[in-house]
Amino acid sequence: MRLSRYFLPVLKETPSEAQVASHRLMLRAGMIKQSSAGIYSWLPLGFKVLRKLENIVHEEQVRAGHVPMLMPTLQSADLWRESGRYDDYGQEMLRIKDRHDRDMLYGPTNEELITDIFRSHVGSYKDLPLTLYHIQWKFRDEVRPRFGVMRGREFFMKDGYNFDLTKEDALHAYNRHLVSYLRTYERMGLQAIPMRADGGPIGGDYTHEFLVLADTGESEVFYDSAVTDLTFGDRDIDYDNVAQCQSILEEFTSKYARTDETHDEAKFNEIPEERRCVARGIEVGQIFYFGTKYSEAMNAVVQGPDGKQTPVHMGSHGIGVSRLIGAIIEASHDDKGIIWPEGVTPFHCGIVNLKQGDEEADAACDALYKSLTALGLEPLYDDRNERAGGKFATMDLIGLPWRITVGPRGLKNGVIELTSRRTGESEELPPEEAVKRIA
Ligand code: ATP
Ligand code: MG
Ligand code: MG
Ligand code: MG
Repeated sequence: MRLSRYFLPVLKETPSEAQVASHRLMLRAGMIKQSSAGIYSWLPLGFKVLRKLENIVHEEQVRAGHVPMLMPTLQSADLWRESGRYDDYGQEMLRIKDRHDRDMLYGPTNEELITDIFRSHVGSYKDLPLTLYHIQWKFRDEVRPRFGVMRGREFFMKDGYNFDLTKEDALHAYNRHLVSYLRTYERMGLQAIPMRADGGPIGGDYTHEFLVLADTGESEVFYDSAVTDLTFGDRDIDYDNVAQCQSILEEFTSKYARTDETHDEAKFNEIPEERRCVARGIEVGQIFYFGTKYSEAMNAVVQGPDGKQTPVHMGSHGIGVSRLIGAIIEASHDDKGIIWPEGVTPFHCGIVNLKQGDEEADAACDALYKSLTALGLEPLYDDRNERAGGKFATMDLIGLPWRITVGPRGLKNGVIELTSRRTGESEELPPEEAVKRIA
């Protein structure tokens, strides 16, 4: 992409309404624009990152054997009356009437809708296990939308639902989700710690929240510092292997890590004092096993091997895709701007032409652009007629992992400058070498 043809409305001033770094930086980097409280337009740069995260989530869900689909944002109230949640959900649910005076709502989650789809089409245990998911906009009329996309009213969420014949099978689905989530967050350059949590309005005894530690997080968390040493890494996972998924769950959840809702001071005090941590965290996902709560209320039954009708065991599993962008920036930025982890960066590198219009510099930039693109990489070429200082500031603000600086002086010696956004270190080297380094 050439910056002269892109739409990157960066702000010079720090927006005063933004209280946390990620919100400020997303506004300044021209990623989002608020359209009304807690509702945002995703400008091209923000949209690009959102799509990257969405793709990672899809890839990891499909790898785990889960099946993608898409449900609508608007739902009929009838299904929610059936489950009993229409009244329970309260003010967070945006209720709408259509022209025929029918009660509709903008879905805050999809247990009811998916259970209805399931019961309409599945009647036998032979069609199980089944996990369906979608990535779709949700709406919750939060009392206090704040921190930009981290607590929006309209937000983008992956939600998946498993249907199983037995509790045992459903717990395997639970473990599969935990494992796939660990992989997903690590690919995004994040450490998200699974913590024992509370079921809330979705219900259920088994539930873990995934938290990214950050001072600006809204949850208070208590954990054994040993959990922060765990990394998922490059493990070979067979998602059908019950024992393997179970042992990973144990590895990642046996140390004390809880949110304030389930915190147990006595248990916490059993940890050696120097390892007891009290901190704040951002909830970026949650998994639930809730048994037959919805299947019984909504009559989602299958015929079992014994010929009897039995309600299916279910769980639901969510990832806050749009909130993750805020969490990633909270975890990875400095005074100058965002520092994207490689896995989610909107462009792989920036090219800064120090002397636009200089024949040699222009040609060198074009050549670099071509060779990077040929390797499947996406460069952002700042080809505007602007001062170098301004170009550098923009690149630092939008946080691409690499910057290639091209100027007539270096080119005389056959070199360009390659700068790492994270370390700030620069190196002069021939253009081909820089391309190799980035690829
Ligand atoms: P919170 O405790 O922050 O209100 P929640 O527990 O109500 O979140 P879930 O129902 O567990 O949310 O939804 C799954 C995920 O969706 C959350 O883990 C979070 O990452 C994301 N999410 C929930 N509410 C919002 C919101 N208002 N804005 C952005 N993301 C959200
Ligand atoms: Mg909530
Ligand atoms: Mg929560
Ligand atoms: Mg939650």
